[in-house]
Amino acid sequence: MSETMEFKKLVGMNAGDDRTSYANNSGLQRVVVSKTRFILDETLKDMIENEEYFLAERCFKMVDLGCASGPNTLLVVSHIMQTFQDLRARFQEIWIFLNDLPGNDFNSLFKWVQSRYDEKVIERSGCCIYGLPGSFYHRLFPNKTLHFAYSSYSVHWLSQVPEGLGKQNKENIFMATTSPREVFEAYGKQYQRDFSKFLSLRGEEMVSGGRMVLSFVGRTVEDPSSIDDNAYFTILAQTLHEMVVEGIIKKDDLYSFNVPMYTPCQREVEAIIMNEGSFELWKKDVFRVRWDAHRNSTHDPSFFDEKQSANLVANCVRAVTEPMLASHFGSCINCDVVFERYAKKLAAEHLLKQQKSSYYTMVISLRRNN
Ligand code: SAH
Repeated sequence: MSETMEFKKLVGMNAGDDRTSYANNSGLQRVVVSKTRFILDETLKDMIENEEYFLAERCFKMVDLGCASGPNTLLVVSHIMQTFQDLRARFQEIWIFLNDLPGNDFNSLFKWVQSRYDEKVIERSGCCIYGLPGSFYHRLFPNKTLHFAYSSYSVHWLSQVPEGLGKQNKENIFMATTSPREVFEAYGKQYQRDFSKFLSLRGEEMVSGGRMVLSFVGRTVEDPSSIDDNAYFTILAQTLHEMVVEGIIKKDDLYSFNVPMYTPCQREVEAIIMNEGSFELWKKDVFRVRWDAHRNSTHDPSFFDEKQSANLVANCVRAVTEPMLASHFGSCINCDVVFERYAKKLAAEHLLKQQKSSYYTMVISLRRNN
């Protein structure tokens, strides 16, 4: 199997609900969801007040793209349902599609759905929730059927590791300040292809006036070699490199490992939306979310414990990268060891006290052109 083919199935979060699962380590993404509510609510309100299909349709169809498996998914769903109620938007039926890659833990996800129905957090009557396995880089719906799409922290994942990277990124595992120019170009091209395709597919699926709210990790500067906006990956790369030096991991395996994710700058995102042409950019916002932003919900906010924060960050990064690491490095890698070392490094470098230890997050609200 080619490098590209193998990676295609690697993006995915840790399944289940145990210590290392995404479900138990997605507090950070939960904070992101709460910070994007403002744009989400404004979009829903504008849609209800101004789009004709709101008067004409009996059945509202929406999708959460890259929903993963955990409490965040249903948080968004129940919030949207509540907003509809508050705004007195009444449909006879709401169809909600939960989309993720086929390897996602849909079984656990639908156990959560069941419990939310049982607890009456989600009203069963008139609300149908469906699983929709498949890549959002492929068609998911028939022509002109979808009214609303939402996606939180998912569209920064590429459809594959950029073509032709080979081993030229050496001990880096993502775009790093020391990456060669060809690496930035390969990442940039892959994103351009993927995000354009994503927009054009959703453009086909959406009714005119359909809306889409997307949040994703971006970068602060145009030139990715000028600032390390992604130090969480740089530290993971350093951790893996130390394990190469100690003979635990093969150098070739590290040199051929690259994370299929991209953090665009604002100008790039806006240029792709404009050139692709299916959507107009209705609203946008950017904000920073500390890597350990979810610390406050479980710990005393006035007390800062570097070790505790480092563990939180390590668990979160582990939940989204472990399937990739395990699949690429195979049995020679023990993720307990990798992330113990990773957490120690995070704590030792005092990064968590700095401004740059945050995810630069973009949220955009798009409207399907008429
Ligand atoms: N929205 C959730 C999950 C974010 S994690 C939350 O806010 O907590 C990102 C999710 O995107 C993962 O579950 C991953 O499997 C999914 N994903 C990545 N690439 C995808 C693709 N091409 N199609 C569908 N889902 C994808």
